[in-house]
Amino acid sequence: MKTNTDLMARRRAALPSGLGQGFEIFVDRAQGAEVWDVEGRRYIDFAGGIAVMNTGHSHPVLQAAMQQQLQRFTHTCFQVLAYESYVELAEKLIQKAPGHFDKKCFFMSTGAEAVENAVKVARAFTKRSALIAFGGGFHGRTLMGMALTGKVVPYKVGFGPFPSEVYHARYPNALHGVSVQDALDSIEAIFKNDVEPSRVAAIILEPVQGEGGFYVAPPEFARALRALCDAHGIVLIADEVQTGAGRTGTWLACEQWGVVPDVITMAKSMAGGMPLSAIIGRAEIMDAPSVGGLGGTYAGNPVAVASALAVLDVFEKENLLARSNAIGQRLRDRLLRLQQQFPKHIAEVRGPGAMVALELCQNGDPHQPDAGLTKRLASEAQKRGLIILTCGVYANVVRILVPLVASDALLDEGLDLLAQSLQAAISA
Ligand code: PMP
Repeated sequence: MKTNTDLMARRRAALPSGLGQGFEIFVDRAQGAEVWDVEGRRYIDFAGGIAVMNTGHSHPVLQAAMQQQLQRFTHTCFQVLAYESYVELAEKLIQKAPGHFDKKCFFMSTGAEAVENAVKVARAFTKRSALIAFGGGFHGRTLMGMALTGKVVPYKVGFGPFPSEVYHARYPNALHGVSVQDALDSIEAIFKNDVEPSRVAAIILEPVQGEGGFYVAPPEFARALRALCDAHGIVLIADEVQTGAGRTGTWLACEQWGVVPDVITMAKSMAGGMPLSAIIGRAEIMDAPSVGGLGGTYAGNPVAVASALAVLDVFEKENLLARSNAIGQRLRDRLLRLQQQFPKHIAEVRGPGAMVALELCQNGDPHQPDAGLTKRLASEAQKRGLIILTCGVYANVVRILVPLVASDALLDEGLDLLAQSLQAAISA
């Protein structure tokens, strides 16, 4: 039998160390919200491949759709020879996106590429170059993705110079003393210190920061950004790569703002594990680039598109938006009880729908983040058969991205393990 230790040794010898590894586990198979490693050990999966498996591992409906497509054809390059499913998926995603105006949609493969292309359409449309993003934001590992990302370690270290004219404002964060007004003031400061608003092509933000720590942009902030963008002709981009496809209890998180972005990026769970991302936006913005300016060899791969169409079916048939909210409620109820039990260590439980986080601190003070405890908790959880991810600007947040097909019994089992792991991590 192959062991995780043997495979890790081969991995270390063959792969660069910059490719991080959360756990020293090699997967053999996965089903729903459970994963089995090569040694036959079972884990409850609260990570979902970083927000990719909202419809669960090995979903039979996705598998059947992909099988069928595999037998017909697997690649033509959409810009060379088209297929109906691509257009059908674009039509459906347009329909599901907010805003009573004409929209268009096209596909890439990764979240970072979706971000790159949102910037491309915004620049082509506005004929401007500057971009405003936010501290703590994450937008990918390409050069523009890194430039937009508001977290240096580990994402940007050693990789500069980055594309110029990217400015970072403060993201609202009530727990850490950044009010909506503070955040808006920081944009005004950029207009004063760095660039005039008439040269800004786009403002890009995550409705809920993913890697940054599951901090939520309140609707009043989104409304103020919308007004600012309208006043200055700036494109408002919502990066929904992590929040999209039902994670927050609505198909897109921006629906909860009551504010309509001009361009939306999606990836991750929209295709249930296949590499596919989408850019959806106002028709006039999306039509700004010249012919041939958009696309990619593999972008909108037919097998990935088949999987994404199946994801839409599964969301409908299995009522996964309602399930996202119910799961979120169950997680929050239990984690709030845990907070009562450990008030010195848990600063906050937060997040919309099933995008739930637990922020850890020292001495009951949110301003004393406890990254050490967070790391120990993830490691204690692994020992007990639960996979959880950490995140946050201060590396002190546990984020739960469990597949939305998980049963209540499995959630409770995972939450029991989480509680035991926290107890052990505190005592360690
Ligand atoms: N934007 C956001 C909000 C993300 O969470 C991520 C991935 N964590 C990306 C962009 C980049 O996506 P990918 O890794 O698929 O390039």
